[in-house]
Amino acid sequence: MSDSQLKFHSVNETRRILIVEDEPVNQEILRFMLEDSYELLVADTGTAALETISANSGTLSLILLDLNLPDMHGLDVLRQVKADPETARIPVIVLTSEKDAEVESLTLGAIDFIPKPYPQPKVVLARVLRTIELSEGQDIIRSTERDHLTGLYNREYFYRYAAQMDARHRDLPTDAIVLDINHFHMINERYGKASGNDILRRVGERIMNLVHDDGGIVCRQEPDTFLVYCPHREDYAALLDRASISLSTKDGSETRIRMRMGVYADVDKTLDIERRFDRAKMAADTVKGSFTRSIGIYDDTLRKSEIFSEQLIEDFPKALDEKQFLVFFQPKFDIRPDKPVLTSSEALVRWKHPKLGMVSPGTFIPLFEKNGLIQALDEYVWREAAACVRTWKEQLGISIPVSVNVSRVDMYDPLFVEKMDGIVKDNDLEYKELLLEITESAYTEDSSQIVEKVKQLRALGFRIEMDDFGSGYSSLNMISSLPIDALKLDMQFIRNAFKEQKDTRLLGVMFQLADALKVPTIAEGVETAEQLSTLNAMGCDIVQGYYFSRPLPADEFEKFIIEKTTESDDQN
Ligand code: C2E
Ligand code: MG
Ligand code: MG
Repeated sequence: MSDSQLKFHSVNETRRILIVEDEPVNQEILRFMLEDSYELLVADTGTAALETISANSGTLSLILLDLNLPDMHGLDVLRQVKADPETARIPVIVLTSEKDAEVESLTLGAIDFIPKPYPQPKVVLARVLRTIELSEGQDIIRSTERDHLTGLYNREYFYRYAAQMDARHRDLPTDAIVLDINHFHMINERYGKASGNDILRRVGERIMNLVHDDGGIVCRQEPDTFLVYCPHREDYAALLDRASISLSTKDGSETRIRMRMGVYADVDKTLDIERRFDRAKMAADTVKGSFTRSIGIYDDTLRKSEIFSEQLIEDFPKALDEKQFLVFFQPKFDIRPDKPVLTSSEALVRWKHPKLGMVSPGTFIPLFEKNGLIQALDEYVWREAAACVRTWKEQLGISIPVSVNVSRVDMYDPLFVEKMDGIVKDNDLEYKELLLEITESAYTEDSSQIVEKVKQLRALGFRIEMDDFGSGYSSLNMISSLPIDALKLDMQFIRNAFKEQKDTRLLGVMFQLADALKVPTIAEGVETAEQLSTLNAMGCDIVQGYYFSRPLPADEFEKFIIEKTTESDDQN
């Protein structure tokens, strides 16, 4: 629905009515009855009426239509008004003395009729007023239930209509489907927001056309995800294929918008409608980032992992209370001196689960990031890590800064900067002793807001390391404007560079980039002496990985610090 259709058809609050009437006397009577309350436009032929309607389609509140016009029949005017989507919503009251024409006008879409000779002015006024109110009421409903950009249902109404579908077709097998546009933020960045919006509109329309005839409904869930609820089907691949539109680029070539799809087929209708779409979304996530697969189906494996996730979520509050979460520390070494020097560590959380044993963060972090529990967990880890740094400072007289992982979700917490500041102060630390690791993908998602937060943190004195660098999709342009103090290369670069066929070219590009940005580089996941010496020769600054040490519990890391620092003392 375009914005113009959402305005309530008025100019300066006074509603506009078009009178289509060729008899001057009748024009005068209507004018007399209505002009105190409405702004009136008058047309005395069918052709003039159609021109006026099309020129004022956004602002007309009502058309009063005489059926006897000199150039065409009033019913033909009515037909044309109702056939044009731009004007179809304007209510029409037919003015007629022919009894037979009344039924026909109503079936053609007239909302009411006023007989000739005209009834008393207050009857006419009351009918006009009621018609306008009714139609504006409908417009309000239409605008609240629709997404403004695509005209599809918004999520709330979509769920309501899905429930109605269920009620009407209790036993009909039905599918919940999620369609996502891959890397939509890149499309926006590359082609501009207007093109991005156009793509969303076109994709929405495609999907609608594809499922509507079978009784399916569609909504857009902000910003680039579409939900479909439709009678069970099997042609998912064809559906996805036909929904993916092509774009013509500036140089005249065509590119196709890539989308991914998640299907929860033949849904269990006893589940909440939201849960059904969670399952479809979960299925879609299984193909995220895959070049070969674009359709994920909710199956037994996903069901099991769903149950496992639910268990972890349920266990979380107690686990936090009982300190089942342990903070491990993995050292980082500065490899620029001849003998590597311990410079800092990274705090990595583990869950010592009473039944499941040690659970790795790879299992629960993504889950907690989805439902927001991560905020509580992260704050716990930051506090534990900061307290350890303080203890080591006090007991060993050595400051080994710790870097903590910051989730994207944390960055949206309005109290985030304050919290960090509080943790530093509570533990008598200096800002540079609590380093913050923020993943590249967090930066790309909503860069302006995140960049703002990071600036505030740096102004206080915090240092920021960009984690998993190279795995996100930031453009060179963007990176050069980001406020960061170190680049932490994604582990995959090391893995790829040292496969059977050693190929360090891409790794080299990363170091050149860091050089250009004048920030030090950290390589993580370094396991062998060969990797270490190659990285050293390429100009890498800091290294973290099993080669030096696995992540260690706090007490073992304390011993590690003593060992490493006395070693270097011995040398001096
Ligand atoms: P990350 O921040 O990139 O952490 C590095 C991961 O690489 C850690 O996995 C670490 O144990 C592992 N690693 C270190 N050296 C080596 C090596 O030489 N070889 C191999 N194969 N792996 C190595 P971990 O501890 O399983 O953590 C996984 C991810 O979970 C972390 O990736 C981080 O994104 C997240 N994470 C861990 N702790 C926290 C936390 O407290 N808060 C948040 N928000 N995320 C956390
Ligand atoms: Mg990290
Ligand atoms: Mg990392």
